[in-house]
Amino acid sequence: MTSTSAVPSALASYGWDDDWADTFAPYAADGLLPGRVVRVDRGQCDVVTADGVIRADTAFVTPHDPLRVVCTGDWVAVDPAGTPRYVRAYLPRRTAFVRSTSSKRSDGQILAANVDHAVIAVSLAVELDLGRIERFLALAWESGAAPVVVLTKADLVPDPATLAHLVHDVETSAPGVPVLTVSAHDGDGLDVLTAVLGTGTSVLLGQSGAGKSTLANALKGEDVLTVQAARDVDGKGRHTTTTRNLLALPGGGVLIDTPGLRGVGLYDADTGVGQVFSEIEELAEGCRFHDCAHEAEPGCAVLAALDSGDLPARRLDSYRKLKRENQWIVAKTDARVRAELRRDWKRKGAEGRAAVEAKRKGWR
Ligand code: GDP
Ligand code: ZN
Repeated sequence: MTSTSAVPSALASYGWDDDWADTFAPYAADGLLPGRVVRVDRGQCDVVTADGVIRADTAFVTPHDPLRVVCTGDWVAVDPAGTPRYVRAYLPRRTAFVRSTSSKRSDGQILAANVDHAVIAVSLAVELDLGRIERFLALAWESGAAPVVVLTKADLVPDPATLAHLVHDVETSAPGVPVLTVSAHDGDGLDVLTAVLGTGTSVLLGQSGAGKSTLANALKGEDVLTVQAARDVDGKGRHTTTTRNLLALPGGGVLIDTPGLRGVGLYDADTGVGQVFSEIEELAEGCRFHDCAHEAEPGCAVLAALDSGDLPARRLDSYRKLKRENQWIVAKTDARVRAELRRDWKRKGAEGRAAVEAKRKGWR
């Protein structure tokens, strides 16, 4: 009889909790070690365990399926014996960031797993692009993470009234989403952000130049990212560097920061788009026709709100644009591949349940 031991404190700072421990119990019974993936690199990954960071091979976990490869943020079961060490399985993901690849077959690519907060960094140094913010919000909601918009470089907008206007504009484009302002230069707002990110796992999203690296360094209290960039340039010591894409923050919480997460496209994010435009989806429930396209139909509540000025035209345009874009991505994706993915998930799920059941019986 093996019972789950108390949460190892070394892993607690990486987000390990009782629920993960419960899920992990059958693997623990097999003598496997729990750990969280801090970095993935061509078939290998670095896993932080209660005994420190170990390098493990991911070949055991089906590598041909782009959504089933091990990614940063995954909780995995590592076989501590043997050379190389192997990741035997990853635990079911609570949330996952998936983006469309630019390849012809528009398969999704998994970027990060088990993320609780998606920080969308938006620079106040340039004109606000609300459409871009909405796109990031859709991606965040779709992943299962809760978005937070962080307006960076607030020191460049010294007039409080102007700043309040900008915050208000973003808030109307982000219903139900906290909007914070920070300045990494003078430290304003960093305490609030640190508190928001103090529990759970976060990622930083946003356009290049939005201030993500600066923000990450301020949160970490060190220049980890710059150091990493410098090492990547000379290409040396690839297998000896200890840089991580996932870090426990000094103020609590975990930060995942991978370059791949920074430029994003939607991937089957229909639910996410709906959440970004929740006020439009609510209005649509009042349309006379169930399948109203809000184009010219009689009794359309969305068009009525547009006419009365309750709904800004920009919001409706943006909604339509993201909906269209998403439909295009879904249509482009090979239907056969998608069907296979679903079948594979179902089969693996059934196998997993059977294995757990068999173990349970063995314990009694
Ligand atoms: P990233 O591409 O999103 O990682 O953006 P960076 O962190 O590299 O920042 C882009 C530029 O914005 C750099 O020149 C930073 O010095 C500048 N920057 C970042 N944060 C602030 C800030 O709080 N205030 C001001 N004035 N500039 C900032
Ligand atoms: Zn309608």
